[in-house]
Amino acid sequence: MTEKEFSLKPDTPVQYLKGIGPKRAVRLAKLGISTVEDLLFHLPHRYIDRSNPKPIAASRIDEEATFVVKVLGATYRRSRRGLIIQILVTDFRDKDSKPMDAPPAQLYAVWFNRPDLRGKFKSGERLLLSGQVTFYGDRQMVNPFFERLDENPDFFEHPVFPVYPLTEGLAAWEVRRAVNQALDRLKHMPETLPEEILAERGFPPIKQALEKVHRPQEMAEVNSGLARLRYEELFYFQTLIAMRRKILDRGTRGEALGMAGELSAAFPACLPFQLTGDQKKVIDEIEADLSKAHPMHRLLQGDVGSGKTVVSLYAMLRAADAGKQAAIMAPTEILTEQHFNKWKDTLAEIGAKPLLLTGSLKNSEKEERRAMIARGEVDMIFGTHALIEENVEFAHLAVAVVDEQHRFGVMQRAALANKGGARPHVLVMSATPIPRTLTLSYYGDLDVSVIKQMPAGRAERRTELTYESKKEGVYRWLQERLAEGDRAYVVCPLIEESEKLELSSVKETYDELAERLGDKRVALIHGKLKADDRTQAMAAFRKGEVGVLVSTTVIEVGVDVPEATIMIIRHPERFGLAQLHQLRGRIGRGSRPSRCVLIVPAGLSPEARERLKFFAGTEDGFALAEKDLAIRGPGQIMGVRQHGLPDLRIADLVRDRDLLIAAREDAFRILQEDPEFAAHPRVAATIRRRHQQSLDFLGVA
Ligand code: ADP
Ligand code: MG
Repeated sequence: MTEKEFSLKPDTPVQYLKGIGPKRAVRLAKLGISTVEDLLFHLPHRYIDRSNPKPIAASRIDEEATFVVKVLGATYRRSRRGLIIQILVTDFRDKDSKPMDAPPAQLYAVWFNRPDLRGKFKSGERLLLSGQVTFYGDRQMVNPFFERLDENPDFFEHPVFPVYPLTEGLAAWEVRRAVNQALDRLKHMPETLPEEILAERGFPPIKQALEKVHRPQEMAEVNSGLARLRYEELFYFQTLIAMRRKILDRGTRGEALGMAGELSAAFPACLPFQLTGDQKKVIDEIEADLSKAHPMHRLLQGDVGSGKTVVSLYAMLRAADAGKQAAIMAPTEILTEQHFNKWKDTLAEIGAKPLLLTGSLKNSEKEERRAMIARGEVDMIFGTHALIEENVEFAHLAVAVVDEQHRFGVMQRAALANKGGARPHVLVMSATPIPRTLTLSYYGDLDVSVIKQMPAGRAERRTELTYESKKEGVYRWLQERLAEGDRAYVVCPLIEESEKLELSSVKETYDELAERLGDKRVALIHGKLKADDRTQAMAAFRKGEVGVLVSTTVIEVGVDVPEATIMIIRHPERFGLAQLHQLRGRIGRGSRPSRCVLIVPAGLSPEARERLKFFAGTEDGFALAEKDLAIRGPGQIMGVRQHGLPDLRIADLVRDRDLLIAAREDAFRILQEDPEFAAHPRVAATIRRRHQQSLDFLGVA
């Protein structure tokens, strides 16, 4: 190292590091690393405790593992698949290692088509080997990641050795060297967390935390450093959410709606059913919100069919009671019309004034209806996005409901809320159960109500798993059921990358069934079909002219055919559990028992099988969503994509739940006490430096 080396700053581009030329810079960029700070937040995904490495014998099949090994021998052969390189290895221990708690074992490492590795492995050489452990006569790893320890003497200097996520063309030692250099040359890393939090939560300062995670002396250090960095990410995530809430609350104050009046009192009595306990509970929660001047901002969650609509209508009627207006916005015209047609008579009977506003009305009609809204002649308005167009003005919007909220962006939801003179009370509804972990995080700015209980009188619904080889049996059973008057959906997966494949798979399924049942009894719908043809197919199925509807996942929200009792899903392993649950929600709506059959292919992995069995065994949408979250991450839960918040790189909402709760408390408290961050300059500076994009998106800047 030369004296001339200037010290680095967090925002110095990585090219300024020694040994990082343009080529490596491009590869680092692929990992999302362009500055020194990015590099330092690129954390090891694994550590090898050199004093106590994991023995091969202690690994389970299918597990991701890293071993320190010695090469026993290598073979090279040609096959139809090209060059195959195979080495046999066994556990390696150096003089510092503790005795193993398992007998030494062997493992094969295999590489396909890597001519560059030919002749490169020597007996006795030491490797770090990491990858998925599989079984093929003995334990093996296919195309594992490896490092030659004899060429990496630094391995033997680190008591705990960091292993970094890599990308093509970037060697592990290159990343490690760059990180070490950055730590050495970064003279000043600005602290990002307020002193009070460091003290209260017992976290190390930032530079120290980075040292601990990149150059630990023992595993305990890693954990203390990691906790602080994870907390830090969650803290800023929550701060952005707290700021978003402030934006939604911006503008004039809300207004209390006073006591329940005639309309809302009359409503429950004219329903053809008793409200469930959960519905009543949520109505009480809403009632409490509406009586306050602070505007309600509530998320109502409940499975498809749990009866969210009546609850929202009750809230809307409270506005009408007070001589003001309420609006409900739904994502599609079908759904909006369905709501309106179902409720308009009941509402009119008790004296409310309902109105429908959608895009496909004639212009003159739309204009007339907008005028009625502006003059305050109607008080219960059902609409689509048409409601948030600029030319829509309400006389006095006091309650705004957003149905299927995950289909709208943050700004669209805010646009509806901005339609009032005073701030309306806002209720957003979701049929996709969002795990509590996520409501705490992505939806942390909302109060949450949950309807868990289903209305009584729903018939039983069963789900079972069967193999592709039993498909004929399923079809025979289907034929019998159709003869009894049942109706069935057969769903084939939507594969985004390959529409052609997808189409051929639904068409194939359609052909198979049409051949067996006659083409008059089977209809086909998919996204590529013209809207008219689709409507026609749906209508035929609704009327029962057609007994089987073969479909991609286009049969989503809004499709409601109570007579349908059978749902057959092919390749269910390609769907998330929340989505499967939505699909399953199409059946079991009437009084006849229903059945969902998952047809899985022969080579299903044990994990996929376990996941689907879990699905078959539970009807609890929340449990399913939690499982999805744990397995596939938050991006896979419907509705969290449009949040406009940064992705989490270090923290994990499931694993770090306790940190999340702590971060949430701190972030909301600080914003409450010090909305401009005047006393928290570190927070202000960090948000500006790291989260400008989110600020722009949220409209805070
Ligand atoms: P979602 O929560 O999916 O929006 P809906 O509000 O559309 O569900 O309700 C589903 C169906 O159940 C509707 O036909 C609705 O009228 C009916 N329903 C709602 N509440 C009850 C209840 N307490 N008892 C019986 N049926 C109910
Ligand atoms: Mg609904």
